[in-house]
Amino acid sequence: MTAWQPTDCHAHSTHSDGALTVAEVVAVAASLGTRPSVTDHVSRDAPTNVNSLVAVEHYLDDLDRYPVLRGGEFCWHDALWREIPPSTLRRFTHRLGSLHSIRLADGQFFRAFALELPPSLTAGAYMEAHVASLEALANEMPVDILAHPTLVPPPLRQIDPHDLWTEQQEARAVTALTQSGIAFEISARYPPHERLVRRAAAAGVRLALGSDGHRHDQVANVSEPLAMARRLGIPDDALYDPERHGSRTGAFDG
Ligand SMILES: [Zn+2]
Ligand SMILES: [Zn+2]
Repeated sequence: MTAWQPTDCHAHSTHSDGALTVAEVVAVAASLGTRPSVTDHVSRDAPTNVNSLVAVEHYLDDLDRYPVLRGGEFCWHDALWREIPPSTLRRFTHRLGSLHSIRLADGQFFRAFALELPPSLTAGAYMEAHVASLEALANEMPVDILAHPTLVPPPLRQIDPHDLWTEQQEARAVTALTQSGIAFEISARYPPHERLVRRAAAAGVRLALGSDGHRHDQVANVSEPLAMARRLGIPDDALYDPERHGSRTGAFDG
Protein backbone atom coordinates (compact mmCIF):
# COMPACT_ATOMS: atom_id res chain seq x y z
CA MET A 1 0.00 0.00 0.00
CA THR A 2 1.58 3.26 -1.07
CA ALA A 3 1.11 6.48 0.87
CA TRP A 4 -2.00 8.55 0.24
CA GLN A 5 -1.61 11.14 -2.50
CA PRO A 6 -4.04 13.93 -3.28
CA THR A 7 -6.11 13.46 -6.44
CA ASP A 8 -6.53 16.42 -8.72
CA CYS A 9 -10.04 15.73 -10.00
CA HIS A 10 -10.06 18.66 -12.47
CA ALA A 11 -7.42 19.64 -15.05
CA HIS A 12 -7.32 20.55 -18.73
CA SER A 13 -5.12 19.44 -21.62
CA THR A 14 -4.72 20.40 -25.27
CA HIS A 15 -7.88 18.38 -25.99
CA SER A 16 -9.66 21.56 -24.87
CA ASP A 17 -8.25 24.87 -23.63
CA GLY A 18 -5.28 23.58 -21.63
CA ALA A 19 -1.68 24.31 -22.60
CA LEU A 20 -0.25 20.86 -21.77
CA THR A 21 -0.53 17.56 -23.59
CA VAL A 22 -1.91 14.64 -21.62
CA ALA A 23 1.64 13.28 -21.24
CA GLU A 24 2.74 16.65 -19.81
CA VAL A 25 -0.18 16.71 -17.34
CA VAL A 26 0.88 13.26 -16.13
CA ALA A 27 4.52 14.36 -15.78
CA VAL A 28 3.69 17.56 -13.88
CA ALA A 29 1.43 15.66 -11.49
CA ALA A 30 4.17 13.10 -10.84
CA SER A 31 6.60 15.91 -9.99
CA LEU A 32 4.08 17.28 -7.45
CA GLY A 33 3.13 13.93 -5.94
CA THR A 34 -0.47 14.35 -7.12
CA ARG A 35 -2.67 11.78 -8.86
CA PRO A 36 -3.68 13.34 -12.15
CA SER A 37 -6.98 13.64 -13.97
CA VAL A 38 -7.66 15.05 -17.36
CA THR A 39 -11.12 16.61 -17.43
CA ASP A 40 -11.38 18.50 -20.66
CA HIS A 41 -14.51 20.36 -21.66
CA VAL A 42 -17.07 18.06 -23.27
CA SER A 43 -19.52 20.52 -24.72
CA ARG A 44 -20.74 22.21 -27.87
CA ASP A 45 -20.51 25.57 -26.11
CA ALA A 46 -16.99 25.70 -24.65
CA PRO A 47 -13.46 26.13 -26.03
CA THR A 48 -12.82 22.45 -26.81
CA ASN A 49 -12.18 19.87 -29.49
CA VAL A 50 -14.35 17.37 -27.60
CA ASN A 51 -17.63 18.63 -28.99
CA SER A 52 -19.36 15.60 -30.54
CA LEU A 53 -20.02 11.96 -29.68
CA VAL A 54 -17.29 10.86 -32.11
CA ALA A 55 -14.83 13.33 -30.58
CA VAL A 56 -15.66 11.98 -27.11
CA GLU A 57 -14.63 8.46 -28.20
CA HIS A 58 -11.36 9.77 -29.68
CA TYR A 59 -10.67 11.74 -26.50
CA LEU A 60 -11.19 8.67 -24.33
CA ASP A 61 -9.07 6.54 -26.68
CA ASP A 62 -6.21 8.99 -26.17
CA LEU A 63 -6.62 9.14 -22.36
CA ASP A 64 -6.56 5.31 -22.29
CA ARG A 65 -2.90 5.48 -23.33
CA TYR A 66 -1.83 7.23 -20.09
CA PRO A 67 -1.91 6.53 -16.33
CA VAL A 68 -4.51 9.22 -15.73
CA LEU A 69 -8.07 9.43 -14.45
CA ARG A 70 -10.36 9.93 -17.42
CA GLY A 71 -12.73 12.77 -16.60
CA GLY A 72 -14.78 15.34 -18.42
CA GLU A 73 -16.17 18.76 -17.58
CA PHE A 74 -19.71 19.11 -18.91
CA CYS A 75 -21.64 22.37 -19.26
CA TRP A 76 -25.07 22.07 -17.67
CA HIS A 77 -26.51 24.57 -20.18
CA ASP A 78 -25.34 22.51 -23.19
CA ALA A 79 -27.10 19.30 -24.27
CA LEU A 80 -24.10 17.10 -25.14
CA TRP A 81 -24.01 15.45 -21.70
CA ARG A 82 -27.56 14.24 -22.24
CA GLU A 83 -26.52 12.34 -25.39
CA ILE A 84 -23.62 10.23 -24.10
CA PRO A 85 -24.63 6.54 -24.35
CA PRO A 86 -24.02 4.33 -21.28
CA SER A 87 -21.28 2.35 -23.06
CA THR A 88 -19.31 5.56 -23.58
CA LEU A 89 -20.17 6.95 -20.18
CA ARG A 90 -18.56 3.97 -18.43
CA ARG A 91 -15.23 4.88 -20.02
CA PHE A 92 -15.10 8.05 -17.89
CA THR A 93 -13.75 7.56 -14.38
CA HIS A 94 -15.67 10.63 -13.20
CA ARG A 95 -17.56 13.62 -14.51
CA LEU A 96 -17.82 17.25 -13.49
CA GLY A 97 -20.88 19.42 -14.01
CA SER A 98 -20.35 23.16 -14.48
CA LEU A 99 -22.46 26.27 -14.43
CA HIS A 100 -20.66 28.15 -17.20
CA SER A 101 -24.02 29.75 -17.93
CA ILE A 102 -26.86 30.15 -15.50
CA ARG A 103 -30.59 30.43 -16.22
CA LEU A 104 -32.06 33.75 -15.19
CA ALA A 105 -35.55 34.19 -13.78
CA ASP A 106 -36.84 35.07 -17.27
CA GLY A 107 -35.54 31.79 -18.72
CA GLN A 108 -32.63 33.36 -20.63
CA PHE A 109 -29.15 31.92 -20.14
CA PHE A 110 -26.37 34.22 -18.99
CA ARG A 111 -22.62 33.58 -19.22
CA ALA A 112 -20.84 33.17 -15.90
CA PHE A 113 -17.80 34.91 -17.43
CA ALA A 114 -19.64 38.07 -18.52
CA LEU A 115 -17.50 41.14 -17.91
CA GLU A 116 -20.55 43.27 -17.18
CA LEU A 117 -23.95 42.66 -15.68
CA PRO A 118 -26.86 44.45 -17.32
CA PRO A 119 -28.16 47.22 -15.03
CA SER A 120 -31.41 45.31 -14.61
CA LEU A 121 -29.55 42.33 -13.12
CA THR A 122 -28.64 42.98 -9.50
CA ALA A 123 -26.10 40.93 -7.59
CA GLY A 124 -28.92 39.54 -5.47
CA ALA A 125 -30.96 38.50 -8.51
CA TYR A 126 -27.88 36.94 -10.09
CA MET A 127 -27.22 34.86 -6.98
CA GLU A 128 -30.82 33.70 -6.77
CA ALA A 129 -30.51 32.52 -10.39
CA HIS A 130 -27.12 30.95 -9.68
CA VAL A 131 -28.53 28.90 -6.82
CA ALA A 132 -31.67 27.94 -8.79
CA SER A 133 -29.43 26.78 -11.64
CA LEU A 134 -27.26 24.84 -9.20
CA GLU A 135 -30.40 23.11 -7.90
CA ALA A 136 -31.45 22.25 -11.45
CA LEU A 137 -27.99 20.89 -12.28
CA ALA A 138 -28.03 18.73 -9.16
CA ASN A 139 -31.47 17.38 -10.07
CA GLU A 140 -30.77 16.73 -13.74
CA MET A 141 -27.11 15.93 -14.18
CA PRO A 142 -25.70 12.52 -13.17
CA VAL A 143 -22.24 13.90 -12.42
CA ASP A 144 -19.85 13.18 -9.57
CA ILE A 145 -18.58 16.68 -8.82
CA LEU A 146 -19.96 20.21 -9.05
CA ALA A 147 -17.01 22.13 -10.49
CA HIS A 148 -16.15 25.55 -9.00
CA PRO A 149 -19.49 25.98 -7.17
CA THR A 150 -18.79 29.66 -6.49
CA LEU A 151 -17.84 30.75 -10.02
CA VAL A 152 -19.51 34.12 -10.69
CA PRO A 153 -18.87 36.87 -13.27
CA PRO A 154 -15.85 39.12 -12.58
CA PRO A 155 -17.91 42.13 -11.35
CA LEU A 156 -19.36 39.98 -8.56
CA ARG A 157 -15.92 38.75 -7.51
CA GLN A 158 -15.35 42.24 -6.09
CA ILE A 159 -17.98 41.54 -3.44
CA ASP A 160 -17.04 39.61 -0.29
CA PRO A 161 -18.65 36.18 -0.85
CA HIS A 162 -19.99 36.28 2.71
CA ASP A 163 -22.09 39.23 1.59
CA LEU A 164 -22.74 38.00 -1.95
CA TRP A 165 -24.16 34.68 -0.74
CA THR A 166 -26.97 34.70 1.79
CA GLU A 167 -26.84 31.92 4.33
CA GLN A 168 -30.19 30.75 2.98
CA GLN A 169 -28.70 30.45 -0.52
CA GLU A 170 -25.79 28.49 0.89
CA ALA A 171 -28.18 26.15 2.67
CA ARG A 172 -30.12 25.58 -0.57
CA ALA A 173 -26.93 24.79 -2.48
CA VAL A 174 -25.78 22.36 0.20
CA THR A 175 -29.19 20.64 0.31
CA ALA A 176 -29.11 20.18 -3.47
CA LEU A 177 -25.69 18.52 -3.26
CA THR A 178 -26.64 16.40 -0.27
CA GLN A 179 -29.75 15.08 -2.00
CA SER A 180 -27.99 14.37 -5.29
CA GLY A 181 -24.82 12.90 -3.82
CA ILE A 182 -22.68 15.28 -5.89
CA ALA A 183 -19.32 16.29 -4.42
CA PHE A 184 -18.36 19.92 -3.81
CA GLU A 185 -15.13 20.95 -5.53
CA ILE A 186 -12.63 23.01 -3.59
CA SER A 187 -11.22 24.80 -6.60
CA ALA A 188 -7.73 26.23 -6.72
CA ARG A 189 -8.79 28.49 -9.60
CA TYR A 190 -12.02 29.83 -8.07
CA PRO A 191 -11.48 29.27 -4.33
CA PRO A 192 -14.74 28.94 -2.41
CA HIS A 193 -15.24 30.85 0.83
CA GLU A 194 -14.72 28.76 3.91
CA ARG A 195 -18.17 29.35 5.42
CA LEU A 196 -19.78 27.54 2.47
CA VAL A 197 -17.28 24.68 2.44
CA ARG A 198 -17.75 24.22 6.17
CA ARG A 199 -21.52 24.13 5.70
CA ALA A 200 -21.21 21.53 2.93
CA ALA A 201 -18.86 19.36 4.97
CA ALA A 202 -21.08 19.58 8.05
CA ALA A 203 -24.04 18.36 5.96
CA GLY A 204 -22.08 15.34 4.79
CA VAL A 205 -21.32 16.54 1.27
CA ARG A 206 -18.15 14.93 -0.04
CA LEU A 207 -15.36 17.36 -0.95
CA ALA A 208 -13.16 17.09 -4.04
CA LEU A 209 -9.87 18.78 -4.87
CA GLY A 210 -9.56 20.51 -8.23
CA SER A 211 -6.72 22.54 -9.69
CA ASP A 212 -8.80 23.44 -12.76
CA GLY A 213 -5.29 23.88 -14.12
CA HIS A 214 -4.75 25.00 -17.69
CA ARG A 215 -1.01 25.82 -17.49
CA HIS A 216 2.16 24.19 -16.22
CA ASP A 217 2.16 26.22 -12.99
CA GLN A 218 -1.48 25.31 -12.25
CA VAL A 219 -2.08 21.72 -13.35
CA ALA A 220 -2.14 19.19 -10.48
CA ASN A 221 -1.37 21.89 -7.88
CA VAL A 222 -4.02 21.27 -5.24
CA SER A 223 -2.03 22.46 -2.24
CA GLU A 224 -4.44 25.31 -1.38
CA PRO A 225 -7.61 23.19 -1.67
CA LEU A 226 -5.96 20.43 0.35
CA ALA A 227 -4.92 22.92 3.04
CA MET A 228 -8.53 24.12 3.31
CA ALA A 229 -9.89 20.57 3.59
CA ARG A 230 -7.39 19.77 6.31
CA ARG A 231 -8.22 23.02 8.16
CA LEU A 232 -11.81 21.83 8.22
CA GLY A 233 -10.76 18.50 9.69
CA ILE A 234 -11.61 16.40 6.63
CA PRO A 235 -9.63 13.13 6.64
CA ASP A 236 -7.45 12.89 3.53
CA ASP A 237 -8.99 9.62 2.43
CA ALA A 238 -12.50 11.09 2.59
CA LEU A 239 -11.64 13.49 -0.25
CA TYR A 240 -13.26 12.33 -3.46
CA ASP A 241 -11.34 9.69 -5.35
CA PRO A 242 -13.33 7.92 -8.06
CA GLU A 243 -11.45 4.65 -7.59
CA ARG A 244 -12.10 4.65 -3.84
CA HIS A 245 -15.60 6.13 -3.71
CA GLY A 246 -17.04 5.06 -7.04
CA SER A 247 -18.52 7.03 -9.87
CA ARG A 248 -21.93 7.64 -11.34
CA THR A 249 -20.43 6.89 -14.76
CA GLY A 250 -20.52 3.19 -13.83
CA ALA A 251 -16.77 2.84 -14.45
CA PHE A 252 -16.24 0.92 -11.22
CA ASP A 253 -19.45 -1.11 -11.15
CA GLY A 254 -19.03 -4.88 -11.19
ZN1 LIG B 1 -15.25 25.27 -15.62
ZN1 LIG C 1 -12.26 23.43 -15.88
